[in-house]
Amino acid sequence: METILLLAHADAGGALAKPAREALRAARTLNKAIAGSNLFVGLIGENVQAAADSIAACPATRYFGVAGAEFGQSRYCTDAAAAQAIIQAAQATLVVAPATSRWNRVLPGVAQRCGGRIDSHVTGVADADGQPVVNRWYYRQRMEASLTRTQRPWFMLIDPGSQEACECGAGAATVELVPVKLAEAGQRTTVVGIREPKADAQTIRPDAPLLFVTGAGWTKKQADGQAHVEEAGKLIVDFLKLSRASLGSSKSLVDLGGEGQAVLPFLSHLNQIGQTGSTPRHAKGLSTCCHGEEPHTVGWRFIAERRAISLDPNCGWARGKADVLYVADAFAVIAELNKLLG
Ligand SMILES: Cc1cc2nc3c(=O)[nH]c(=O)nc-3n(C[C@H](O)[C@H](O)[C@H](O)COP(=O)(O)OP(=O)(O)OC[C@H]3O[C@@H](n4cnc5c(N)ncnc54)[C@H](O)[C@@H]3O)c2cc1C
Repeated sequence: METILLLAHADAGGALAKPAREALRAARTLNKAIAGSNLFVGLIGENVQAAADSIAACPATRYFGVAGAEFGQSRYCTDAAAAQAIIQAAQATLVVAPATSRWNRVLPGVAQRCGGRIDSHVTGVADADGQPVVNRWYYRQRMEASLTRTQRPWFMLIDPGSQEACECGAGAATVELVPVKLAEAGQRTTVVGIREPKADAQTIRPDAPLLFVTGAGWTKKQADGQAHVEEAGKLIVDFLKLSRASLGSSKSLVDLGGEGQAVLPFLSHLNQIGQTGSTPRHAKGLSTCCHGEEPHTVGWRFIAERRAISLDPNCGWARGKADVLYVADAFAVIAELNKLLG
């Protein structure tokens, strides 16, 4: 009999973030598909009661928790000890967890400690004749595979954005607190604080409905024979502030920094979309000053509605990569858009 455990960490404020609710949806999908399976929830954090209560109306029958100030911080040794303790207390055979940076770092090691196996970047779960199956993409999202395993416990890290978040209502959950001996875990790392960019300097927004892509054209010489990098930077930053879009880039543009050329200071390789970049999942995409070559557009695989602004009517976007191509000067179009949005 399978025991399915949703394993999540609570936020600093005790809430459950959207990726955890998406993983809960995947866990419930397995629970419905596998006859006789149990669905349990395991929570780790400073305060897990509020997180448990926030999903108390879900069909999980037991809630396990490891709580305390030392479990509020993301730290390998405490997270691994807590996860292992919950998995053992729940006797979980299938561990479903959101692929947050915290769990991506910790759960492969926990799978090893528990004698299990783990699959990362899971984008779907299903069953085949009552056996659990996961879906994931290989070779830079070019091939999709479905696979199953006999080894237990089987850990599944669910890619954020790949599932609908469950909307289980709140209630009062009874949390069984699991003790963890930290002396044994060896609390070696002390977290002294968190450094992060200001909220409006954070340009990668996975939850944004729109992906706004900038290409190298923004830094190239324009009709007047001059480059207008400063103006480009202001137009892009204003657009992001007004639209709350997520910022993506072509490789050429983010590479310019390494060549010592004038660049847009808020871009890094983390913004790069494509074969050697990321493959985000926004509902819509707007490309500007980018040629739309295959190594770039392959990163748009999951973007449903695509539009592009380029001066070149023969660019890649015109060759079936975009639904609509505006052959226009992006400087003029974005300036006008900012005016309208403002
Ligand atoms: C192995 C390999 C992996 C790669 N991986 C990636 C990857 O992951 N991601 C990626 O992006 N690329 C990748 N590339 C590079 C890719 O092939 C292209 O070179 C790159 O995407 C080109 O970037 P770009 O379109 O911004 O620049 P360019 O090719 O220079 O195009 C600039 C465009 O801007 C337009 N333009 C200029 N001014 C304006 C204006 N005022 N208004 C409107 N349009 C204007 C021009 O007409 C032109 O179409 C990879 C290449 C290789 C070989």
